[in-house]
Amino acid sequence: RQPILRVDDLRVDFLMPGSGFLRPPVPLHVVNGVSFELFEGETLGLVGESGCGKTTLGRALLRLGNGRVSGKIEFDGQELSTLSNGEFRPLRSQMQMMFQDPFGSLNPRLTVGQMLSEVLLVHRVARGAEARRRIHELLDVVGLSREYYNRYPHEFSGGQRQRIGIARALALNPKLIVCDEPVSALDVSIQSQIINLLKDLQRDFALTYLFIAHDLSVVEYISDRVAVMYLGEIVEIAEADELYRNPAHPYTRALLSAVPSPEPGARKERILLHGDQPGPMQVPPGCGFHPRCPSARPECALRRPPLQPLAGRPLHLVSCLLYEEERSMNEEKA
Ligand code: SF4
Repeated sequence: RQPILRVDDLRVDFLMPGSGFLRPPVPLHVVNGVSFELFEGETLGLVGESGCGKTTLGRALLRLGNGRVSGKIEFDGQELSTLSNGEFRPLRSQMQMMFQDPFGSLNPRLTVGQMLSEVLLVHRVARGAEARRRIHELLDVVGLSREYYNRYPHEFSGGQRQRIGIARALALNPKLIVCDEPVSALDVSIQSQIINLLKDLQRDFALTYLFIAHDLSVVEYISDRVAVMYLGEIVEIAEADELYRNPAHPYTRALLSAVPSPEPGARKERILLHGDQPGPMQVPPGCGFHPRCPSARPECALRRPPLQPLAGRPLHLVSCLLYEEERSMNEEKA
């Protein structure tokens, strides 16, 4: 499989205003050196507590955020960071975003037809009768009646509005969609309808998803691989089955211990973490997770562990010093 997206050492900093000459602005490292690849046609789930930087990361990929972005983003073989906004615009139609809140992301004064026509017109895809035909097609593929063309967002249920959000994301035939918590505002039964729709559309239109969410059960259901973020960094990334069955990072283990088991009567030992995730102004030295980590050792406060494959498992990457010994023993044997 080919990577459609390669992200290398991506950083997003926000400047906190200082006060006067003696206190210069302070940079906040909200995304702090993230690297990963996204393969054509796959879904990569991106999970972590709120404030870990996952939405900022998703927005930075599409140039939608406000922070200062550095590092490399290569999309479909093209390095994006060197492109001007004008050069980036044609590629932007191939990279779309579905927003967290289907209610807030739709303009209440526009009908569905007007909203989607605007998207097609701005990107010079279609106008007039051709645009109308394309919008009817889009309503069909997201499972909405063509009669909804002249209706306003307030006339729809939450699930229907998210379907309109999907139609809008699909309007320009994208290759990649960044889905930012697309089902967290919906009832559980509607959630599964939308997730199944996303899966069908992925199959029919060869879409690639970066699926940002905090609900680990939803992420397990939709993702081929899963990346776990903590304090602006990816701390573990692996195929979904592997990550859910054999989580290696102490943070991932704690997150998964809180997910109820689907088997009735099965009991899991809950791993409780002390304190809250600190903000980007208080990033601890060494491993950022060390103040809360149940397995921390003294050296964890001194060294930042790199994200590296586990011994004998090249697709399972973890950033934790616990696995360094095992890895180097394995390398010696080889
Ligand atoms: Fe815990 Fe140390 Fe591993 Fe960090 S490096 S996750 S503190 S054991």
